[in-house]
Amino acid sequence: MFRIGLEHQEDGKVVPVITTGSIVWGVLLRSAIIIFASFIFMSIIDNRKYWWLMLLLLWLFAAYPGWKQFQFYKEHLKEVSESTLCGQCIHFDETSQLCKLYDEHISEDYIPCGGVDWEPKTFEDKEN
Ligand code: SF4
Repeated sequence: MFRIGLEHQEDGKVVPVITTGSIVWGVLLRSAIIIFASFIFMSIIDNRKYWWLMLLLLWLFAAYPGWKQFQFYKEHLKEVSESTLCGQCIHFDETSQLCKLYDEHISEDYIPCGGVDWEPKTFEDKEN
């Protein structure tokens, strides 16, 4: 839920620890837990005066960690794009850090095609 980290390998494959999907999932899961816990807390104390606490908790434990993860992810993605062959390839999907041709995650140490299928990005791709 609060993961921030680099990649880890399982059976020789490289899997990113955080992706945009895992960040969004983490924010939704933490928000749901906080909202659920807040309703229970409000019903126990039977006082709706402290509703703003829920907003504070949502910011502290759901939105802020998600924002920090996204900053880390963006920085990591930029490093991978700049330091690997895949970063300049037309088949590289930046949002998921995936080679679309091989349907595998790439990293600084692992290029699925070994450079054989590399195709340069077009000028329009680089602009986006
Ligand atoms: S085709 Fe090769 S160079 Fe291009 S993204 Fe896939 S693994 Fe990387």
